[in-house]
Amino acid sequence: MVPDAIRTWQMTEPGRLESRTVPTPALGPDEAPGEIRGCGVCHTDLSYFYLGVPTIQKPPLTLGHEIAGVVVAGPERLLGREVVVPAVLPCNDCDICRAGRGNRCLGQKMPGNSLGIWGGFASHIPVPAADLCPVPAHDGVPLEHLAVVADAVTTPYQAARRARLGPGDRVVVIGAAGGVGSFMTQVARGMGADTVIGIDINAAKLERMRGYGADFTIDPRGKSSKDVKELIKSYCRSRGLPANYGWKIFEVTGTRPGQELALALLSFVGTLVVVGYGTEETSYMLSKLMAFDAELIGTWGCPPAAYPQVLDMCVSGRIALAPFVETRPMSEIARVFEQAHHGALDRRVVLTPDF
Ligand SMILES: [Zn+2]
Ligand SMILES: [Zn+2]
Repeated sequence: MVPDAIRTWQMTEPGRLESRTVPTPALGPDEAPGEIRGCGVCHTDLSYFYLGVPTIQKPPLTLGHEIAGVVVAGPERLLGREVVVPAVLPCNDCDICRAGRGNRCLGQKMPGNSLGIWGGFASHIPVPAADLCPVPAHDGVPLEHLAVVADAVTTPYQAARRARLGPGDRVVVIGAAGGVGSFMTQVARGMGADTVIGIDINAAKLERMRGYGADFTIDPRGKSSKDVKELIKSYCRSRGLPANYGWKIFEVTGTRPGQELALALLSFVGTLVVVGYGTEETSYMLSKLMAFDAELIGTWGCPPAAYPQVLDMCVSGRIALAPFVETRPMSEIARVFEQAHHGALDRRVVLTPDF
């Protein structure tokens, strides 16, 4: 059933949330409205709300792009199905999309940013049907938890694909205990990495990652890049691993110290994937890339076509969601934003509609 009106928490201006009821728009033939069951709170939402990062759709709009729900109208094949709404919805009709790089399609739509006024902190959302990703049987994994697949898990998966990560690989994750980094660590392990070293300044959360993919952890606070390298070297000696070639490094923090450390660790036939976003500049002697025969790769979102593989990893337990995700009523959105903004949350929060 499509309701006449949609309940939503709109950002009326940066820093301000308002509960509103908006008439349901007329739906196009390619649209499938979803009843939202959960929407994850992401740092991108917070940067729009607190830091003045501009949304493409000017406020008022509804934020939120990590959405799981149930399709309530539209194409037969989707009707009544549980789905995840990809965070990046490509146009599927341009050269970039045709080349299989739709995650960076220039005409892409993102809920809570460029899908008109619509986002995930609402009762319903009208979305293009083409790229909705049906959820497989998910015994023991609540549908709401699968909302975080839409960004926090698929973004690391695509980063790993960009690095051609596979069995036997040696991996470093910088920011290994954060909202996206904890899944980067699990994805690396889940895709068969032989060794995963997790680096993070949150010692307690980092410790927890030892049970979820990290073989060895380093808290870099008070340590130089050289100190960190020495710790990695001695770990490698203890396991009989080469320390100075072939490492795949994922930088998830987007901070200058994180990026500087990542660059310092990049070595012979190595790969550095930039997963995190920040605005500070970092300097580097590019000729080192040439001398190392190394690769520096950027990555953005994940093509919807790859979502089924990620959902499979989550429902099969190869990636654990429950220890890293908690649900809260959507009526607490303002408090959750505040807590997330101040780093006071232990887990990624998925808001479930109650208004
Ligand atoms: Zn996000
Ligand atoms: Zn496109």
